[in-house]
Amino acid sequence: MSNFSEFKPLNEKTLIEYIKSIPALSSKLANNFSDLSVKEVGDGNLNFVFIVSNTNGSFVIKQALPYVRCIGESWPMTKERAYFESLALKEEGKLSPDHVPEVYHFDRTMSLIGMRYLEPPHIILRKGLIAGVEYPLLADHMSDFMANTLFFTSLLYRSTTEHKRDVAEFCGNVELCRLTEQVVFSDPYKVSEYNRWTSPNLDRDAEAVREDNLLKLEVAELKSKFCERAQALIHGDLHTGSVMVTRESTQVIDPEFAFYGPMGFDIGAFLGNLILAFFSQDGHADQANDRKHMIFFRESTLWICKMIRQLSYID
Ligand code: ADP
Ligand code: MG
Repeated sequence: MSNFSEFKPLNEKTLIEYIKSIPALSSKLANNFSDLSVKEVGDGNLNFVFIVSNTNGSFVIKQALPYVRCIGESWPMTKERAYFESLALKEEGKLSPDHVPEVYHFDRTMSLIGMRYLEPPHIILRKGLIAGVEYPLLADHMSDFMANTLFFTSLLYRSTTEHKRDVAEFCGNVELCRLTEQVVFSDPYKVSEYNRWTSPNLDRDAEAVREDNLLKLEVAELKSKFCERAQALIHGDLHTGSVMVTRESTQVIDPEFAFYGPMGFDIGAFLGNLILAFFSQDGHADQANDRKHMIFFRESTLWICKMIRQLSYID
C-alpha cells in the first residue's frame, strides 16, 4: 500500500517521496531527483505552497491542512477546500486558458494540487502595485478572465440542467462560503475577535462603521445576494493577492472560495482592491518614485484610475 493512502501533511522532505510515487509529477522532472530543489513559499493565509524544480522542469504543490494557516489549529477549516479549488482551476482554465495556471495533478485524499509554477518575474499583483509598477495589459486580461469565467458558467450560456448540476456540486464548498459571510459581510460591522485595524489612529473610523445602521442595512442586502444568488461560478476571493503578473502575463490563482454566486462579488472585489491600491499610493511613495502622478488626477499617467474606468465601461 502506498505511504500516502491517507492524509498526511507534507514537508520539504516527505514531498519528494510523494512526487516519486506520482508519475504525472515525476515525469515533469524527467524522473531526475539528484538536483531537485524544494522550497516552501506559502505567504498566503490558508495553505502550504511548495515550489519544486530541477533543470528539466518545475511545478507548484499546494496542500490544504485542516485548519487556517495564519491562525493555527484553533481555527479548524475543512481540507476539502482543495477539491473545490482544483475543480475551479480546471473549469476556469478551460474557459480562460491564458490566465489560469494549468493543473497537472490532484489528490483528494492528500488535499493536494500540482500545478504550473508561475516562474519569475511573476509576482503577486499587490506587491507590484505597492512597488508602483504599471501593468498595461492588466485591465484587458482581467476583463477577459472575468467575462469568460462568469458569462460561460451562467444561464446566459449554459442549460438549466448543466447549471443546476454545477450549482449543486459547488454547494459542497459551504464552509468557505460561511467564512466569507463571516469575515466580509458580518465581522467588520461589529466587535469581533479577528478584526484588526491600526489603533488608536483608526479607532474612531472602526467605531463609525460599527454604528452606521444604514450601512449595515446595505451590507445585509449584499450579504443576502451573496448567499442566495447562484448566478455564475465565481472565484470568490478575487483580490490583488490572488493574481500573479508580469508586464505581459496575468494569472489568476487561489480559487478555493469558488462557488455559484453573484458575478458582482468578483468584479467588485477586484475593482475595490484597485481603489484601495489607488488611495494607498501616497503612503507608499518614496524618494525614488514620488507617485505624484498617482495622487493627482492627471489623466494620461493615472494608470490605476484608467484601469478602473476601463473595467467599469466608463470609457
Ligand atoms: P493561500 O490559499 O494560502 O492564500 P495562495 O494560492 O494564495 O495560497 O498561494 C500563496 C503564495 O504562494 C502566493 O502568494 C504565491 O506567492 C505563491 N504561489 C501560489 N501558487 C503559485 C504558482 N502557481 N506559481 C508560483 N507561485 C505561486
Ligand atoms: Mg491566497
